[in-house]
Amino acid sequence: LRILGIETSCDETAASVVVRHPDGQGEIVSDVVLSQLEEHSAFGGVVPEIAARAHVEALDGLIEEALTRAGVTLADVDAIAATSGPGLIGGLLVGLMTGKAIARASGKPLYAVNHLEGHALTARLTDGLSFPYLMLLVSGGHTQLVLVKGVGDYERWGTTIDDALGEAFDKTAKLLGLPYPGGPAVEKAACMGDATRFDFPRPLVGESRLDFSFSGLKTAVRQAATAIQPLTEQDIADICASFQRAISRTLKDRIGRGLARFSERFPDLPEPALVVAGGVAANLVLRSTLEELCRDHRFRFIAPPLRLCTDNAAMIAWAGLERMAAGMPDDPLAVAPRSRWPLDAEAAALIGSGK
Ligand code: ATP
Ligand code: MG
Ligand code: FE
Repeated sequence: LRILGIETSCDETAASVVVRHPDGQGEIVSDVVLSQLEEHSAFGGVVPEIAARAHVEALDGLIEEALTRAGVTLADVDAIAATSGPGLIGGLLVGLMTGKAIARASGKPLYAVNHLEGHALTARLTDGLSFPYLMLLVSGGHTQLVLVKGVGDYERWGTTIDDALGEAFDKTAKLLGLPYPGGPAVEKAACMGDATRFDFPRPLVGESRLDFSFSGLKTAVRQAATAIQPLTEQDIADICASFQRAISRTLKDRIGRGLARFSERFPDLPEPALVVAGGVAANLVLRSTLEELCRDHRFRFIAPPLRLCTDNAAMIAWAGLERMAAGMPDDPLAVAPRSRWPLDAEAAALIGSGK
């Protein structure tokens, strides 16, 4: 089975062709991503209207390029998969309508993929992982700990009650005068810093529910930064290092509890695993924290290659193939883009009820 995947939910326009072999093994045949980073960097964040226009301009060409690089035409593709949420509505409209149009014109089935499901299932494409496993998604828009039980079968164990982790990095960078995107800039500055100079708060540590909160941390950074004037390069480095240390200690507590809960629930699983996804997974302090945690809890730690951790269309294509294999078709005319679309049924129902 061969599928064309389309991703336009945020600030990356992407198209990919992925094959699922008869043994269930996936293969990425082509994977093209166009980041809009430059278009947005002057504004210090993603501007929805600019994003939507950029998707319109780039998507057709990217789809053609993905097909060409795969050495196929639309006729060789068995289905189309497009992200239909969650994300910025303008971008979602562009990708989903393009997917629908191609599906209608070619008479192929369309799979409307949840972007989070794409992240959640990537480790099955890269590492052939079996269910169940735990996934930590840390990106600019999401911070979630999810139990992945099967295709379309998820339990969200924790989410952020305010800022996403990537957002906390971006805002911290901004108030320290570092460039956008903030994550890489903060990590780089932190290399020269003293992580013990500031004792930043670690919200929710010790609580049994597995949620996250990062806005208090950001406020503490602002207070520390305004208390020192003028800020030297060393001060900035120390703040960044201390900020990362607070995050590392927070994650140790939150994720540690998650791993313990998983082990209690699935005591007989031979090889429990934690998968990390999202752009913040590039952070080496975060990686070594999770690695250590997994070693202590005897979990396998899986970090897919970075280009598959950040937004891409290969994961959307793969999620489509998984849904196809599981016999979960979508009605191409009925699907509509959704800016909010939690993975687990319980959280999704709350949105439906207006809570
Ligand atoms: P989403 O996937 O949630 O819709 P997104 O496009 O913002 O949103 P990604 O592209 O996966 O998410 O990740 C971008 C985020 O990752 C940014 O917030 C960026 O600052 C952060 N990031 C990137 N590299 C690093 C790093 N080395 N350390 C920390 N954060 C990082
Ligand atoms: Mg992005
Ligand atoms: Fe994403």
